[in-house]
Amino acid sequence: SRGKAGVFSLWLEQRPFWCWKTSWVENFLPCNSYIDSYDPSTGEVYCRVPDSGKEEVEAAVEAARAAFPGWSARSPQERSQVLHRLADLLEQSLEELAQAESKDQGKTITLARTMDIPRSVQNFRFFASSILHHTSECTQMDHVGCLHYTVRAPVGIAGLISPWNLPLYLLTWKIAPAIAAGNTVIAKPSELTSVTAWMMCKLLEKAGVPPGVVNIVFGTGPRVGEALVSHPEVPLISFTGSQPTAERITQLSAPHCKRLSLELGGKNPAIIFEDANLEECIPTTVRSSFANQACPLGFGLLGEICLCTSRIFVQKSIYSEFLKRFLEATRLWKVGIPSDPSASMGALISKAHLEKVRSYIKKARAEGAQILCGEGVDKLSLPPRNQGGYFMLPTVITDIKDESCCMKEEIFGPVTCVVPFDSEEEVIKRANSVKYGLAATVWSSNVGRIHRVAKKLQSGLVWTNCWLIRELNLPFGGMKSSGVGREGAKDSYEFFTEVKTITIKH
Ligand code: NAD
Repeated sequence: SRGKAGVFSLWLEQRPFWCWKTSWVENFLPCNSYIDSYDPSTGEVYCRVPDSGKEEVEAAVEAARAAFPGWSARSPQERSQVLHRLADLLEQSLEELAQAESKDQGKTITLARTMDIPRSVQNFRFFASSILHHTSECTQMDHVGCLHYTVRAPVGIAGLISPWNLPLYLLTWKIAPAIAAGNTVIAKPSELTSVTAWMMCKLLEKAGVPPGVVNIVFGTGPRVGEALVSHPEVPLISFTGSQPTAERITQLSAPHCKRLSLELGGKNPAIIFEDANLEECIPTTVRSSFANQACPLGFGLLGEICLCTSRIFVQKSIYSEFLKRFLEATRLWKVGIPSDPSASMGALISKAHLEKVRSYIKKARAEGAQILCGEGVDKLSLPPRNQGGYFMLPTVITDIKDESCCMKEEIFGPVTCVVPFDSEEEVIKRANSVKYGLAATVWSSNVGRIHRVAKKLQSGLVWTNCWLIRELNLPFGGMKSSGVGREGAKDSYEFFTEVKTITIKH
């Protein structure tokens, strides 16, 4: 969105073989330095992203500061209408956005079309509605003649930083509640996946978002990301990404006592008891480990989702049967080019990430673990044009110790470990033995056991006999190194507003 100052920090330069024109650059800061952006399905550079820094953050802060009084003074109803209009415009561009997200990120077009972009639209509609339904607290103390009540107000300029795995989806999950509550924002998408954020910028003005309310800066974490986090006029940072980056953001924020929301990685366990319904459990667990295909609920993934299962604990009595059927189901998972409608998985995000994921498999092999399918075992077949793409087969590891780095660290790729367990007590201890605590899955037909285990798991989310069914009103987020704070209707509202308690004595 253009700031009052008439400068702004965003524009992408498109290579001729990609579809967008370069004409939309008026009123933006001139850009002298770019980052190459790769098409993960071919390994070729297909567009360039501005490599912004302090100067662009300053311009964005100036615009956000100027816009804040007007935007925060609007009624929730007025802001809600703007969010609805933006949702409608995104929906009208759904196909174009889905194609772009798939090209930029490597995921299948089917997934972007059925999950990423519809959910981005839903994020705006959801917060457009939920902002109308908050109430404040009030309590009386008659014995001293007092009435206490709370009021909430937007905090100011919110810094929003998102990762590459769900580009527009996660960026809008932050922008929508922040502006609905009356803040102005400076948002930074991942430098690896900036294109849909850039496309959305073009819709902001049309939707009636006033200049300076939504500012998007493009570039790398160490340059523009740190400039944003360190800026003294940005009092709150909502970050989704990796734990090491969160550590850095926490350090930079500390001198300013900034309010932080941190949504980080996971090492999510699935616990499968002998009385589990394997007919439902196996396809869901394959999907929760690797899938990149829209499932009936409209979700899907690629092992590159923070909620993915990466440690599967199976009770010993059904271990062999589970493993056999799980492998059969995994082998049916098709890795293909993103435009192939029959493909379940597209490409990984980058060469560096592919190498990182492969290095974990190499380490597991060196430790004596068995790789039962996928990387180094089966052959991947791709069209000649995509031979340089960052594709990888879903990989299953067994005979691996809990202390192995594949069982402890977040790999964030289509890799899962399957290990046996004996007792309920033992599996809870092992599931909780990692530093992360984001999501867990429990499969059993014993409701008492489900309740007991779910309560004892150190995990912000526990799905039982299902996976990834979300209710956006309820808190989302992780424990331990998986994050600080929660997101959702009430939680995001509380994060993006400052509360004040007022006491009246009569
Ligand atoms: P990342 O931490 O490398 O980057 C995330 C964002 O932070 C990017 O926009 C990046 O440019 C920016 N950044 C990097 N260094 C920075 C710095 N020093 N200062 C400010 N900003 C900086 O993470 P990623 O590789 O893009 O994403 C993958 C990670 O995100 C995984 O760990 C995954 O589990 C996590 N994730 C968590 C959730 C959740 O809801 N809990 C959702 C999706 C992804």
